[in-house]
Amino acid sequence: VVALYIVPTPIGNLGDISSRAIEILNQVNLIACEDTRHSGRLLSHLGIKTRTTAVHDHNEREKASWIVEQLNAGGSVALISDAGTPLISDPGYHLVNFVREAGFAVIPLPGACAAITALSASGLPSDRFSFEGFLPAKEKGRADKLKALREDTRTLIFYESPHRILPSLQSIQTHLGGARKMVMARELTKTFETFLSGSVTEVLQQVESDPNQQRGEMVLMTHGAEVVEQEALPAESIETLKILCSELP
Ligand code: SAM
Repeated sequence: VVALYIVPTPIGNLGDISSRAIEILNQVNLIACEDTRHSGRLLSHLGIKTRTTAVHDHNEREKASWIVEQLNAGGSVALISDAGTPLISDPGYHLVNFVREAGFAVIPLPGACAAITALSASGLPSDRFSFEGFLPAKEKGRADKLKALREDTRTLIFYESPHRILPSLQSIQTHLGGARKMVMARELTKTFETFLSGSVTEVLQQVESDPNQQRGEMVLMTHGAEVVEQEALPAESIETLKILCSELP
């Protein structure tokens, strides 16, 4: 079937690619990569010789119509990003939307994703969670975003990069509170994989005092806001009952 395949690649450990993913990457006529040089290393490691083309944030819209032409000509295409699942804080949204609108099948393969990998071992509630991607680069943007999330009772998941880890943790401390439980998962599937957990203040202190904790790739997860138990009766009825009680002998 002529289709656009969405193919996750490893987030560190090269063993984390499925045999089906390798099969698809070998079979398609074209692999759309976020960065052809970066993905070239993975593809040559896997012995895959399929032609590649670059599809990134700056050319995605123009490339989308060219890719639909390839599909029209009967050639299937695979989309990969530098690491993990395409479209998850990575390019691909416009392409998938455009290909679907053009009437072609989009077939996703399951695979590595840093957010889900981190959450699964965090010890934080995983029944309800919200993936928030990267926090904004500027303090004002981070403050606005975090204030909007302050009352959210779901576990929150953020991506972060080494040069913004300290300001982001400081913003989380200011706007979500230092006492909230959090976990930082760093270098998942790699040699220096580390989970730091504790209150936001404790994790911030550990990261501040150890420059090694500021290196590599990291996922930040915070416990949701505590659920406020609703009173069983409406406030008005409680007031009426109080008055009644005080009037009774
Ligand atoms: N598409 C990817 C996915 O499915 O996870 C995410 C791409 S995003 C541009 C890169 C961010 O993902 C990093 O800044 C970090 O927050 C997170 N990340 C990727 N690999 C990671 C790893 N091995 N350990 C921890 N976080 C990782």
